[in-house]
Amino acid sequence: MMSEQKELFPTTFVVLDMEWNQPIPYIPSPVDPKTLPGEIIEIGAVKLRMNSEKDFELSRPLRLTVRPIYYRVMNRQVSRVINKSTNDLKCGLPFQEAYRLFMDFCGEDYVLCAWGDSDISILRSNLKIHGLSAEMNERFMDIQPFFGKVGENTTMQRSVNYAVDFYKIPQTDDFHSADKDAWYEALVLKESLIDYFSMKNTEEKTEGFIPLSSYISNPNLTMQFRWKSDVFPTEKEADEKAEQEVLRCPICNEKLVADLPWFSSGHTHLSLWKCSQHGLLAGKIRAKRTPDQKYYGAGQIRFANASAAWYVKEKWQSLSEVGGGPERKNDPEAEECD
Ligand SMILES: [Zn+2]
Repeated sequence: MMSEQKELFPTTFVVLDMEWNQPIPYIPSPVDPKTLPGEIIEIGAVKLRMNSEKDFELSRPLRLTVRPIYYRVMNRQVSRVINKSTNDLKCGLPFQEAYRLFMDFCGEDYVLCAWGDSDISILRSNLKIHGLSAEMNERFMDIQPFFGKVGENTTMQRSVNYAVDFYKIPQTDDFHSADKDAWYEALVLKESLIDYFSMKNTEEKTEGFIPLSSYISNPNLTMQFRWKSDVFPTEKEADEKAEQEVLRCPICNEKLVADLPWFSSGHTHLSLWKCSQHGLLAGKIRAKRTPDQKYYGAGQIRFANASAAWYVKEKWQSLSEVGGGPERKNDPEAEECD
């Protein structure tokens, strides 16, 4: 008990929120939009320090305006949301400098947080295009599924706005400037942590309880492994062949152990795997059609945090509740399904 408490307190969470501009389809882009899906124009952040289950401190928000160099014309869709014009994009700090100031703000020993995972992937693409290391803080937490689980016990994706209403947090500012969004996200995180600790006191020993540490994952473990089966006349044969692939950890090559064997959810097949060193991975297979109307199974495994794993388990459970369980391998009745 003591050692776990020591791990939890104090913890500093840095809640990051960013706004980015997007390329305009009819203007030739100076970079491949796949390499740079969005260029950061604003960085907002708030620190939430947790001293105990009940004692939280919020910092003043950090707000940095960034001057884009690739997408310098305001995308109309983006502008509608964040209310900025092309003229506004002429001011601000160069990205490198803004990022350095953000890193200074973070300090050392913190958990990086965001709402959803798009901020992290946009940040990664911006770091790469500016020739900076895309290696992130080793501990990252997505607030959205954490709120979903402890606030509502749902895997539905909710907006920040929804969560702010849910906790009846007074709204004094508009959304959609990075610092204000980060501020509201930090307030939602604080309320979710309070919910988490009251849940922990009563449900810690029950099955399905996810400890806080399981929501925190290493965002640098982005490696994944993909494979394809041979080609078969039917979708079912292709799926089955793809399921037979011997899976290894993309980092250490250790043979993975099935945590939840393959099951089908519509046309997608899902599974969970474990590497003793690197944790959980989620597997996915979909049959794809070849030009001559045959099928191959396309598989993928990638690292999964607690909430991604929970999503797969929920799917499995909801399927077992309807109609006697999902289709499993070697199930003689499965032939007629789908
Ligand atoms: Zn491994």
